[in-house]
Amino acid sequence: MPTAVGLSSAETVALFKQHVIANYNRYPVNLVRGEGSLVWDSEGNRYLDFFPGWGCNLLGHCPPKVVAAVQEQVATLIHVPNTWHMDVQGRWAQVINERSFGGQAFFCNSGTEANEAAIKIARLHSPKGKYKIITFTGGFHGRTMGSVTATAQPKYHDGIEPMLPGFVYAPFGDLEATRELVDDETCAIMIEPIQGEGGVRIPPAGFLQGLRDLCNERGLLLMFDEVQTGCGRTGDWFAYQKFGVTPDVMTLAKAVCGGIAGGALIAKREIAPALRPGMHAATFGGNPIAARAGIATFETIEEENLLDNAKQLGELFRRRLTKLQQQCDLIKEVRVAGVMIGVELSVDGNPAVQACLERKLLINCTQGKTIRLLPAMNLPEEQAEEGCDILADVLQKLPRS
Ligand SMILES: *Cc1c(COP(=O)(O)O)cnc(C)c1O
Repeated sequence: MPTAVGLSSAETVALFKQHVIANYNRYPVNLVRGEGSLVWDSEGNRYLDFFPGWGCNLLGHCPPKVVAAVQEQVATLIHVPNTWHMDVQGRWAQVINERSFGGQAFFCNSGTEANEAAIKIARLHSPKGKYKIITFTGGFHGRTMGSVTATAQPKYHDGIEPMLPGFVYAPFGDLEATRELVDDETCAIMIEPIQGEGGVRIPPAGFLQGLRDLCNERGLLLMFDEVQTGCGRTGDWFAYQKFGVTPDVMTLAKAVCGGIAGGALIAKREIAPALRPGMHAATFGGNPIAARAGIATFETIEEENLLDNAKQLGELFRRRLTKLQQQCDLIKEVRVAGVMIGVELSVDGNPAVQACLERKLLINCTQGKTIRLLPAMNLPEEQAEEGCDILADVLQKLPRS
């Protein structure tokens, strides 16, 4: 068997048409290789990637330390079940816990799974009869039935109802409205500290602290979905540290293994035992490959001082984009937290994504009008400038409709 299939983009599109369910809108491009913030297609075109791996590739494509760790591990021990101890899984948990709030970890393989575990731990930890979880409009928590019910966006529920009972939706940023939704059956509040898919929406000052106080008052768990914001994305290890508000439970995935599939739930030590033996599991969760990739990811961030780098890159993007805003009346707002960047337009952003693709810059548009950039935290400055030049040109030429 050849190591690569070796098809052209057109041949690959034809293969998908025949054999792969069309549940994604895909660009008609066959990507075959990546290095840092660059990727190449089968025709040899080079793309500058400001959205590497949908936010999973926080260290860019094929970060050398992660590659080396995985290569070594895959030839040593690929998988053993969670009926055994694995030093690498224990060390991975330690690496995360020492950089967060000293909790304990449960490992899984994706963000939606981490949030399913959060839903379970909230219900298991609470007295009988308390089961309702408050989540927020515009939030995103994943696609399995529990997580998608937690996702307060009707477009993701359409046609798959009935949803899971026990979820209540509050308007994002409205503390008083949230307070009014708490009743004797409420067990937790779950929120992204910065909404990602919802358009890089940063909560109003004091909102997260208000939720913390409310949870303390009413005996609720505060659960932060840091699947997108976590692991250094915002220039802090975890976004909760930026706001100075510590959750009881935190979920991670996307970048947690530097591009390898992995997810985690981190719970405070006094809450963790609620996930007792027999109540939850993930066959591949915390497997040696993911664990080694996770450890290598955190070590790379530390050794290369990438938290600071993410902050500096964030300032570069803020400077470039706010300057652009003064020249381009289509830009309503620029929102930046490290390398989590949203540019809200007054028009549909999808033509801009298309135009950037033609100029070989990969970006994303979410919620119709928000350009979302999740560049790697080690994106070289010249490449940041190069991409900003393209984006500026594209946005200035965007048809106003
Ligand atoms: C992407 C995302 C998820 C879902 O993660 P999957 O790995 O796709 O299941 C959940 N929450 C947030 C905040 C996300 O950004």
